[in-house]
Amino acid sequence: MHELHCPRCGRRPLEEFTFGGERRAVPDHITEPDDRDFDEVWIFNNPHGVATERWFHASGCRRWLTVRRDTIRDEVIEVR
Ligand SMILES: [Zn+2]
Repeated sequence: MHELHCPRCGRRPLEEFTFGGERRAVPDHITEPDDRDFDEVWIFNNPHGVATERWFHASGCRRWLTVRRDTIRDEVIEVR
């Protein structure tokens, strides 16, 4: 993946974006708000397959994108 298609700016080089982590559900057994925040920000599943990630278009529209990406083929499936 060398480029991302930003819905607002079009196809842009990956260097313009900042990785914001994997988007995933926090497990239900984690109930303390601070623990849930920690888990959401720092714990990743790092799946071998399709992952949902957050990317920030830092050198463009300065909006967050949600990207579904196949980590095996390093191929973008969907950008929202
Ligand atoms: Zn953009």
